[in-house]
Amino acid sequence: MIPAAPASMQPPPPPAGGTGPSAPQRWQQLWREALRDPCELLGLLDLDPAALGLSEAAAAQFPLRVPRGFLARMRPGDPHDPLLRQVLPLDAEMRPMPGFALDAVGDTAAKAGDGVIRKYRGRALLVATGSCAVHCRYCFRRHFPYAEEAAAAAGWRHTVELIRDDPGIDEVILSGGDPWSLATHKLAELTDALSAIAHLKRLRVHTRLPVVLPERVDAPLLDWLAALPWPVTVVVHANHANEFDASVDAAMARLRGAGATLLNQAVLLRGVNDDIQALCELSERGFQAGVLPYYLHQLDRVQGAAHFEVDDARARQLHAAMAARLSGYLVPKLVREVAGDTGKRPL
Ligand SMILES: *Cc1c(COP(=O)(O)O)cnc(C)c1O
Ligand code: SF4
Repeated sequence: MIPAAPASMQPPPPPAGGTGPSAPQRWQQLWREALRDPCELLGLLDLDPAALGLSEAAAAQFPLRVPRGFLARMRPGDPHDPLLRQVLPLDAEMRPMPGFALDAVGDTAAKAGDGVIRKYRGRALLVATGSCAVHCRYCFRRHFPYAEEAAAAAGWRHTVELIRDDPGIDEVILSGGDPWSLATHKLAELTDALSAIAHLKRLRVHTRLPVVLPERVDAPLLDWLAALPWPVTVVVHANHANEFDASVDAAMARLRGAGATLLNQAVLLRGVNDDIQALCELSERGFQAGVLPYYLHQLDRVQGAAHFEVDDARARQLHAAMAARLSGYLVPKLVREVAGDTGKRPL
């Protein structure tokens, strides 16, 4: 994830697995057209880079990446826009903070084999690829050695063996990076191999693509999804109601049409969604799109994300206020990931 050369000097990489047998799909084209230059992004929003604390060093460590359709949901002229705050590389990221580490959740220790993380009973999480269509500044994977762990790179063989040899695994979770950044034929390669494993009962996909690049939910992906032999849960990731628009609604409707159960996980982020109004609207807007709230995560304490942190007392207060206002099924579980725990820890 840490580029060898400054991000601005590198040609835009194709999406992982994007070199399929057929011509690039439309979503892959849109992926390539994503914004990579912070100054261009701010120019398009009528904002002055000098006034925002933009950081070249932060952008060199974890480059900016924003699909143009996601940019279109930001409010021009608003430096506090909740979508902009999630993607903008700022000076604040480069201030060292005690307690904020590189491997905040103990993934390195939990790795069972290339790209497979087995921390929780019954579940195997596959780091299918390191690529994401959007780069979220708070993400703990900003320091994770993605490429080395990507299960797809090794042709899935080792991954499939690991899962086949462990009858205790009944659910496979495709994660990353963003697993749907892989070409559909690459996903099919994996699920074809997994479908021979009798002890697998469920498949889950953790992806931000239906939100940030809804064009990814195209006909080949839906055909793949509908033909899978297991019940499928798609856990999307939106942190603010403004991330939903008509194109996202349509993508969610297509996913539900293909039989997927849709859940959302969000991260509690200072300056993005740390108020009761924003959190309630997120649950309500997601539900309107057919997505139920699942988790509200306390931030992973990763280097560069300290300025997003909301303290536990405030987090509990916000969560209680949500519970007092919303239908029970619109209240996500407030959790934190703790290295060594056997599941997400409720606050
Ligand atoms: C979060 C996570 C899961 C899934 O946990 P659920 O509580 O079932 O959503 C599985 N494996 C790992 C390593 C995780 O971090
Ligand atoms: S893994 Fe998810 S949260 Fe992290 S950068 Fe990728 S899309 Fe964003």
